Amino acid sequence: MDVSTLIPKNKSYWIAGIVAVFALSLLVLTTTLTDKGDLKSIKVNADYLLEYGDAISITKVVSDNELKWLSFDTLNSGLSEYPHWFKSTANVPFPFESYLLEINYGLLDQIDVWFVDPASEEVLGTYAAGDRLPFTHRPIQNEKFLFPVPKGKESFDIYVRVKSDGPIKVPMRIWKKSDFVEYSGSHNLFMGLFFGYMLAMALSNLFIYATTRNFTFAIYTGYVVCLASVVATLHGVGFRYFWSESVWFQERAIAFFACATLVLIIQFSLEILTLKKHSPKAFKVLNGIKYVFILLFFASAILPYTLVLKAILLMNALAMPIILASGVLLSINGNVIARYFTAAWAVLLVSGITATVENLGLFELSIDASYLLMVGAIVETMLLALALAISFSGQFKDAETARALAIENERQAIAAKDELFKVQEEAKKALEYSVEERTLELEIALRELSDANRELERLSAIDPLTGLMNRRYFDKRLRAEIRRSRRERTAITIAILDIDFFKKVNDKYGHLAGDECLKSFSATLQEVIKRPADVICRFGGEEFVVILPNTELEGGYKLMQRVRKTVESKVIPFENDEINITVSIGVTSRVISSEDEQEVLIAFADKLLYQAKQEGRNKVVTDTY
Ligand code: GH3
Ligand code: MG
Ligand code: MG
Repeated sequence: MDVSTLIPKNKSYWIAGIVAVFALSLLVLTTTLTDKGDLKSIKVNADYLLEYGDAISITKVVSDNELKWLSFDTLNSGLSEYPHWFKSTANVPFPFESYLLEINYGLLDQIDVWFVDPASEEVLGTYAAGDRLPFTHRPIQNEKFLFPVPKGKESFDIYVRVKSDGPIKVPMRIWKKSDFVEYSGSHNLFMGLFFGYMLAMALSNLFIYATTRNFTFAIYTGYVVCLASVVATLHGVGFRYFWSESVWFQERAIAFFACATLVLIIQFSLEILTLKKHSPKAFKVLNGIKYVFILLFFASAILPYTLVLKAILLMNALAMPIILASGVLLSINGNVIARYFTAAWAVLLVSGITATVENLGLFELSIDASYLLMVGAIVETMLLALALAISFSGQFKDAETARALAIENERQAIAAKDELFKVQEEAKKALEYSVEERTLELEIALRELSDANRELERLSAIDPLTGLMNRRYFDKRLRAEIRRSRRERTAITIAILDIDFFKKVNDKYGHLAGDECLKSFSATLQEVIKRPADVICRFGGEEFVVILPNTELEGGYKLMQRVRKTVESKVIPFENDEINITVSIGVTSRVISSEDEQEVLIAFADKLLYQAKQEGRNKVVTDTY
């Protein structure tokens, strides 16, 4: 997500304003503090000389006029392996008040101080201090090196011998004791403010880390703690309150904390600038430097302090420009986080460079350089916290946006599914309806068709002239009745009837009369044969067949005799004539044992009919086989 939307322009002015006001008020506070210090104390500018080779005794230093003392201004405060001697003459306005000599640099290893009466060259007081001595050995137990000035002399010489593995910085001032107490109250207020602020930043970010589990907050917390530790070490606060007995740690503390601070700030920079993504090359180099610092961190426990310090300065000179350049480039590309980040770096760098330049004596500042660095650190940590907050808020909003998007997608998916379901449901309903409709239509059509079929079948089974069933129907029906006879073991009776001399009727009265006779004969059959199960068919021409299911031969014979007699007695009127016909009938009956018997049964009945014809016609012949 574009983090620039997280802080509207007018709000970013507000933030810049707040930071500026905070920074300015800190600067004002430190300026007044510095002014107060400068006003109330007497600055001591000492000449110096380096002790090459053999050790020089204080007696020699005091008495030897041949020694080549150099001006304090030319002192190179860099690293030096040789002890430095400083010499100055101090005047105090009220010799019977208590005065203190302050050396305001907390990291000197060995300090020996002599107060000497310039006239008699008598040593008025001797003191030893420095990091190589436990804190409790200091003449005055303060984080600054303080030495009581001997009373009663308006003017005296101060000799100081300093040996240190770190930079040789010897800013000396003489305080009236009461003024120092006053001043150190204000100084302690500022120190308290600084450490309180750092502690608050560390704790709040630690809590944020604890709740968010975003590791960058933990790194930031570590960074703030280590940076505060560096300042605490520089100002002697660490030695005074935390490791006052451990000379070993005091010697290494600054390298140790500086390495840790640098490791953490590089890691923090990598993460907050997302350099891995934005500039893989810078990422690789910085990551490499980070590992060197990790190595130096552990090495600081073994290697000589000077060597480690030199390595730190070298690596730092390499890392800082890369971080700053990355920040500037990303800022130009519109990365809001990078802007705050770069501003933070710029503040620290400017205060650092200014402090260094001031240290080198290139110009006088109205602020103590160490205060300037602390103000820089406060503003820097504040801006970094801001950058971190924006970055986290960006991630948070990203997650939120992603979540909202996911919810929206899901909602759409559900809506689409619902819509699909609705469409399916509608389609189903429509289909069901149309299927129902079509089924109904089909059913009607089928019913109509089956009615038509039945009618067709009925029609196809009926002989049009007589209205009796035809030969086709007879065959079907006979098959069924034969099966039933076999199944139910009941007798089936078959009669074949043939009108006698029918040819003659046709010949004499014509075909229409013949047809009339056939109709009349059929009517007679239907009159006489009445059982519903009985079947009367026209077999073809003037031949007829009667199936009498479940009828014994005797019953069949009696029924056929009744047919024969009725036909014989019936007079068929045709036009002006009256026609008489007779019929010959063959009747047989059988309990069917095999379905193949159909042909045999018909043939046998036919044979009996033939016999009836032979025996003179108008006769019923019956037999079984
Ligand atoms: P019989 O059976 O007594 O031996 O003599 P028949 O004259 O009846 O014998 P035949 O079987 O030789 O003749 C059948 C005659 O029946 C032939 C035809 O003139 C007549 N006939 C057959 N079918 C029809 C019909 O549908 N209508 C009319 N009018 N005559 C038919
Ligand atoms: Mg015939
Ligand atoms: Mg006939």
